[in-house]
Amino acid sequence: MSLEGIHVDVHADAAALPPCPDAPLPSDCCGSGCSPCVHDLYQKDLEDWKQLCRNLRDGSVICDSFSNDTIGSARHIFPHKYTAFQLISIEKITTDSYLYSFKIDNNGSLNLKVGQHIISQLIRDDGKPISRQYTPVSEMDAVGRFEVIIKLYENGRMSQLIKKWKVGDMILWRGPFGTFSYSRNTCKRIILVGAGTGIAPLYQVIRFVLSDGDDETQMNLMYASRSFSEIILRNELLDLTNYWNFFMCHYLSNESNRLGKKYRENVEFRKITKDDVKNEIQKSCLVGTKLLICGTKSFNKDMINCSRDLDLLESQVFTF
Ligand SMILES: Cc1cc2nc3c(=O)[nH]c(=O)nc-3n(C[C@H](O)[C@H](O)[C@H](O)COP(=O)(O)OP(=O)(O)OC[C@H]3O[C@@H](n4cnc5c(N)ncnc54)[C@H](O)[C@@H]3O)c2cc1C
Repeated sequence: MSLEGIHVDVHADAAALPPCPDAPLPSDCCGSGCSPCVHDLYQKDLEDWKQLCRNLRDGSVICDSFSNDTIGSARHIFPHKYTAFQLISIEKITTDSYLYSFKIDNNGSLNLKVGQHIISQLIRDDGKPISRQYTPVSEMDAVGRFEVIIKLYENGRMSQLIKKWKVGDMILWRGPFGTFSYSRNTCKRIILVGAGTGIAPLYQVIRFVLSDGDDETQMNLMYASRSFSEIILRNELLDLTNYWNFFMCHYLSNESNRLGKKYRENVEFRKITKDDVKNEIQKSCLVGTKLLICGTKSFNKDMINCSRDLDLLESQVFTF
């Protein structure tokens, strides 16, 4: 197989390379000009995958295993077809975000890899399908259930349908998707910069690193929310600061209550600036640093520009 920019010998490399991302189904695109559209995300996944293959080839990245097999356990979710999962609970966690829990039959697991997301498809009132991506926040190997945190937008097309979900409903999901890969101790420090629901994949990475006692990577999270009441996973993140290698600062752009800070919480009452990120990156040796980004389109663009100003290599930066 020959891909633009890289040559892949399927027979020689099948075990050594990560699996190629799956293309969206025709029904995944709702045709309403979403940004990003599922096709944009597929193109990005494909580019990330090609870059990862190049990095593996030139030795700038190493990884333990890319096998997507779920050896010893049956698959419960598939990239190419939708499976219905029963919604078992709904919990309001911020002013406009909810934690939705789904049952996985037979005590099964989604067997996600760190940073991966899944796609839900719903049917609009006009009978057309609509699908959107969501990143589970449950443990990647959680059994019997998985959880997603979804922010509901006033005018969001998927949000309007999700608002109608009731416990007991069967909801269609497929996946997993996403090309992020990580191996322990391959960098000294990870700086994670996120906004709003962008915390979901970053939270996965943070827990993944912290759950490995042999991983000595230091992590610094810079997390933007509007106010205290809109911080997603606030208590969970605070608990993680008990680990020696996890540090966090909240940036609140619209909070008047300066006394709402919890013990051990670092809070700045303003937006994250490019200089904040640059200063954080420059606190340690650039070579051993990785930057992970997940926020809105414009937020991501600003953060990527920071990394360019500091001459970070493409392989040091990942945008979810
Ligand atoms: C890989 C990936 C993983 C994701 N994981 C999650 C997740 O775990 N939880 C979650 O809640 N969302 C997540 N999203 C976003 C999600 O897929 C939808 O885009 C979001 O739910 C809005 O869909 P909608 O149809 O309701 O809004 P749309 O109809 O698509 O948009 C309507 C309006 O809502 C606003 N809006 C929509 N999306 C955003 C946004 N991300 N930031 C700011 N304003 C926005 C805009 O004003 C927009 O004009 C993820 C997206 C991607 C690409």
